[in-house]
Amino acid sequence: MNFQITEYCHHILEEYIEEGDICIDATAGNGGDTEFLCQKVGETGNVYAFDVQEMAISHTRERLERANLSTRAKLIHDGHEKMQTYVKEEAKVIIFNFGYLPGTDKRRTTTAAGSLAAVEALLERLAPQGCLSLHCYTGHEGGAAEEAALAQRLARLEPRRWRVLHCRDANRESRGESILLAERLPVRQR
Ligand code: SAH
Repeated sequence: MNFQITEYCHHILEEYIEEGDICIDATAGNGGDTEFLCQKVGETGNVYAFDVQEMAISHTRERLERANLSTRAKLIHDGHEKMQTYVKEEAKVIIFNFGYLPGTDKRRTTTAAGSLAAVEALLERLAPQGCLSLHCYTGHEGGAAEEAALAQRLARLEPRRWRVLHCRDANRESRGESILLAERLPVRQR
């Protein structure tokens, strides 16, 4: 096995998703994560996918049409910081893939302040036994600060209610990618 970090992430996240679930792709980009989530939620589930770039939304739409999955997704051309306006349900898995969209304007990146605010708002939107996945990149300007801000925020989550992991390459030169996973633990009955 020599998984790309995104594939590795998908293998973990699929364990959390059941048929009929609601999931969110907060940064649709080229639609890879949206397609993955649509496959996993099945015919009765729903995926909300956000992106601020029209091109990303149309790439994602085409990708889902090719895979015959369009009916399972709501594509929203708006910022993920406005998610509360569009999503009223609790979500089982929420994926953020930060940075810029390869092949487009590299200045259109997510930002530390914006990403932190969106993640903060979403922590309460995650269903019990759900998982939040943050895919960070440190190669571009502002990327390292964004990763640090998000890692510090998640490190403060209450250990009885959350399990937080930070995964990165440890034995080779890092490609500047890491994944933060935050699992919302079930509430214990007394
Ligand atoms: N770096 C990744 C791709 C990231 S794509 C890779 O290498 O594969 C990140 C996406 O987030 C882009 O399509 C961008 O348009 C989108 N984005 C940036 N700010 C956003 C925001 N506030 N809300 C929703 N999407 C946003």
